[in-house]
Amino acid sequence: MPKKMLPLAIIAAVLAASGAGAQTNPLWGETKVKNYLPHMSWTEVEDLLTRTDMVIMPVGALEEHGPHLPIGTDILNGLERAKLVAQRTDVLVAPILFPGNSPYHLGFPGTISLPAETIQQVFFQAAQSLMRQGFKRFLILNAHGGNRVISQYIADRINHETAGIAVELGAAAAPFRQETRGEPTSGEPVFDRHAGVGETSSSLYLTPDLVDLSKARPATLTMPEHLERMVPEVVAGDPTALRVFLAESLKAEETGKGTSTREITDTGVWSERDLEESSVERGRLAAEAFVEAAVAFIERWKELRPME
Ligand SMILES: [Zn+2]
Repeated sequence: MPKKMLPLAIIAAVLAASGAGAQTNPLWGETKVKNYLPHMSWTEVEDLLTRTDMVIMPVGALEEHGPHLPIGTDILNGLERAKLVAQRTDVLVAPILFPGNSPYHLGFPGTISLPAETIQQVFFQAAQSLMRQGFKRFLILNAHGGNRVISQYIADRINHETAGIAVELGAAAAPFRQETRGEPTSGEPVFDRHAGVGETSSSLYLTPDLVDLSKARPATLTMPEHLERMVPEVVAGDPTALRVFLAESLKAEETGKGTSTREITDTGVWSERDLEESSVERGRLAAEAFVEAAVAFIERWKELRPME
């Protein structure tokens, strides 16, 4: 090597060794979130165990949510709510599984549906791992309507078959909820369910970069005649009408009920509301109402039954 090249070579070698100027993964965009299990080291988990024995496990879904929301809407929104709760009260957030039970969305590309039996096994076994290390109390956060009974069953199995204790967080938090259902809507109430204004608003607040409202367009709904007739009473809030309506609605194509999403909506959105009514503010109010109530429940649980 010529003598005058030496200084440059040394600088290059020093730079390479120190990693200065090295390009890290350009796709990486996460920042470390407190008490979020995948971001933690085992020593941080060990430390958390001295302060809490509680774990939130969201049960979500990977299913179509119209052309404007991501397939991961339910699991991502569930995880974000859980993280927000964990910032306010010191509990662990453990993501276990992305897909849930969504057979009635399978007509749209990207939906993954697992049997109830599989889902409950996975969550039950995951809880058993965490119990070995000292976690004892489980808050099952259901983030997809189709998982309601499965979530309750996971909690029941933990309670009946292990030393652990579990509740479904939505139900547990319900008595602590103040009724803040977003800004009042003008005029008559309008049918608004899957991937509609409520859920779109939640996503606008919780996962803003993943919503593309420019892709939203009015859905053409084609519900069976006898269900269509119940809609006014469902929208008016008649609990019996809602129960009877939902017993038949959103069922797999194979049931012959004609209520899988492919059969009842051309966009995958099950709503008659204008999606342009969705807002970050509405989503924020909904998320905060949930977080507030969940934290209140957790604090009350700690009070009623202190950690051992
Ligand atoms: Zn959803």
